[in-house]
Amino acid sequence: MAFLCVDIGGTNTILGAGNGEFETIAKCRTEEFLKDVPGRVEEALDDTHIEVDDIQKTAVAAAGPIDREEMLFYPPNVSDDRGLGEIDLGEALKDFGEITIINDCTSAVLGEYHYGDHELENIVYVTISSGVGAGAILNGHLVEGADGNFAEVGHMKIEDDLKCSCGGRGHWEAYCSGENMPKMAEQIFGYEYSDAREIFDRYDEGSEEASKVIGKMQKINAVGMANIATMYNPEKIVVGGAVALNHPETVVKPLEDQVEELTVNETPEIGLCTLDDEAVIHGLRAVCNGKH
Ligand SMILES: [Zn+2]
Repeated sequence: MAFLCVDIGGTNTILGAGNGEFETIAKCRTEEFLKDVPGRVEEALDDTHIEVDDIQKTAVAAAGPIDREEMLFYPPNVSDDRGLGEIDLGEALKDFGEITIINDCTSAVLGEYHYGDHELENIVYVTISSGVGAGAILNGHLVEGADGNFAEVGHMKIEDDLKCSCGGRGHWEAYCSGENMPKMAEQIFGYEYSDAREIFDRYDEGSEEASKVIGKMQKINAVGMANIATMYNPEKIVVGGAVALNHPETVVKPLEDQVEELTVNETPEIGLCTLDDEAVIHGLRAVCNGKH
């Protein structure tokens, strides 16, 4: 029984198709994917033995708001003037079997738990990318919450100054997401950067200004991670998302030492996720294989 997995990210979409194992994992721009969903899926199936009619299950995760009942997805980084304000996933994926939609961080923790290089029953996945979010498996059980929105940790209040995109104030992701780091630099320190990459580049060159911004980001990340350690008592926190994957030495490495001073619990091991940017797609494979 063939399956299709669709990980719709802010910038790129990853498609995986297979039967038990993946036969293919293909990447394309999210904008291109959303413009012609069946076309991009058929393209991904080209180098497999799978025909569209063979697909009986499709699992979808998306970075952005989803109305699961109506299967509507509102892409956050793709502007309305391209006619992509609201995507009817049920309609777009109607030829590919029964559809399951899950939170992207929930999928990532499932991927790391089942197919990553860990043998642990208590594991939290944290993404630091265009937003900050988490998924958790505790005592071997996936935790999803009443509405499937467990661990919206990016909107955990940490300080009181910066306004978050959700309207709240002082939330974790208002300081540390790739989108928000330049705003944080400007509003707290008065420094202007075109994007997060520039902050990391200046930091690597030894800039004192960038070093203050990075220091602030590291401190806020440490408090967020320590809160997770204190609340959930995981054995390991695995970190994914583009900001962490592209700058592991700066973003992930200092965390364990900093968290140790901030949590009353045993400090968990904190490291990069082992499936790189494919944690989510492997979690969707777990869903299709009935491991959800
Ligand atoms: Zn918020």
